Amino acid sequence: MRDTLDSFENLIGGKWVAADDHRPNVNPSNTEDVIGLYASADASAVERAVAAAQAAREEWAASTPQRRHDLLDAVGNALAARKEEFGTLLAREEGKTLAEGIGETMRASQVFKFFAGEALRQAGDLQSSVRPDIDVEVVREPVGIVGLVTPWNFPIAIPAWKIAPALAFGNCVILKPADLTPGCAHVIARLLDEAGCPPGVFNLVMGRGSIVGEAMVNHPEIDAISFTGSVATGNRIAEICGRMKKKVQLEMGGKNPMVVLDDADLSVAVPACLNGTFFSTGQRCTASSRLIVQSGIHDAFVEALTREMQALKVGDALDPATQIGPVVDEKQLRSNLDYVEIAKSEAAEVIGGERLELETPGFFQAPALFLGTDNTMRINREEIFGPCGSVIRVGDFEEALAVANDTDFGLSAGICTGSLKYARTFRRKAQAGMVMVNLPTAGVDYHVPFGGRKGSSYGPREQGRYAAEFYTTVKTSYVFAG
Ligand code: NAP
Repeated sequence: MRDTLDSFENLIGGKWVAADDHRPNVNPSNTEDVIGLYASADASAVERAVAAAQAAREEWAASTPQRRHDLLDAVGNALAARKEEFGTLLAREEGKTLAEGIGETMRASQVFKFFAGEALRQAGDLQSSVRPDIDVEVVREPVGIVGLVTPWNFPIAIPAWKIAPALAFGNCVILKPADLTPGCAHVIARLLDEAGCPPGVFNLVMGRGSIVGEAMVNHPEIDAISFTGSVATGNRIAEICGRMKKKVQLEMGGKNPMVVLDDADLSVAVPACLNGTFFSTGQRCTASSRLIVQSGIHDAFVEALTREMQALKVGDALDPATQIGPVVDEKQLRSNLDYVEIAKSEAAEVIGGERLELETPGFFQAPALFLGTDNTMRINREEIFGPCGSVIRVGDFEEALAVANDTDFGLSAGICTGSLKYARTFRRKAQAGMVMVNLPTAGVDYHVPFGGRKGSSYGPREQGRYAAEFYTTVKTSYVFAG
């Protein structure tokens, strides 16, 4: 079968470079469906990509805002025009439902178009000096060559929200996508190439994190690393970048709380928790994994959420009736199933969570709710990254807030309440980068900052105008005009 599969190569210096090794990109809904063979490069490909970026960086940094705008705008338009095709690929390689795959492709399009506009809006400050006859000018310059390392769970949106600002602000890029989902990154590379991206300005190097990722992070000519992924990998990257004095931005895990107070509207709280906890198979860094529920509403909430959870249709990501697609691979599924056993061993009551055997060989799991839990349990301290949510019963708002903040993470935090007072206090006191009131903890806009606190994030925020903090470096110049 392998001989009949298409091969997908790396883009280095404007050329599609054939790799010696390739890895099959397997559909998690049906492991007999192999999407293609994707390049699995070694460290020498990173060397070539760095050389290509070095050759291109000066000209690209000096390119006009119009040129950068037009490139990013063209990619944004192409993504939107072909959203069904690319959304289908996304669902096929990652396991998100078709609707989510198309939605994420549209998000990538919006991100490219937003940063096309940002390329035109770059401005500095002209200030009067505190000394006579001197002007002070503050401008933003590109950082240089930026290495982007991305995870599998948002395989088109996350590369988009790193590539687009990097190019808009005049940097050259080397992208290493997750090994499990290279297809969407390859799509973006093709679109950039077709839109006339100059050779070396954008380079795609697919391959193992332990080989290609390591080589990028350790490369002295790569000026900055933007990483999204697990805490363990993020910690390692931070140490290396710290040692090398390299600019670094890390977006990592979450253990996001969703508080449901007695005065919440169940018709708002239940859909918000259903979405936040189980949609995208729970494989979102912003997923609501701890549902912190006040005693008075607890039983009615649990009953309604259980009913809705059990009605969710788990199935092939490409089936339009599917609401929950497969887990991304066997390793992640085994880890999820281990956490179901851990929940039982910690004396939680477990509803669902079993492996499902469906028509096709895939990594299907029933969504799981853990009841009667407390915040000290492993299931409430460690990120599971699957379709699993815990319910923690609390007495009042103050206890709910304390439990919500009692975590090593700080990405997103939500509250469902009819009280302006509690909503306001929660917004002020939640130790998280993003706070949601009567909304799921997952689901964000693309034109405002994204990121967290504590163990979830490190370095400047991503997205919106705040992206300039990472992808530019500030220069202050003084001119004596006397
Ligand atoms: P991961 O294992 O850390 O991998 C992320 C990326 O890092 C992949 O491209 C991986 O390559 C690469 N990598 C692995 N080892 C590396 C090394 N030593 N040096 C450099 N790069 C290396 O994470 P994942 O399992 O793909 O993603 C799931 C995690 O991402 C979850 O913890 C989730 O919460 C987090 N996430 C966070 C956000 C956020 O914005 N906060 C968003 C989405 C996901 P390979 O694929 O080849 O291993």
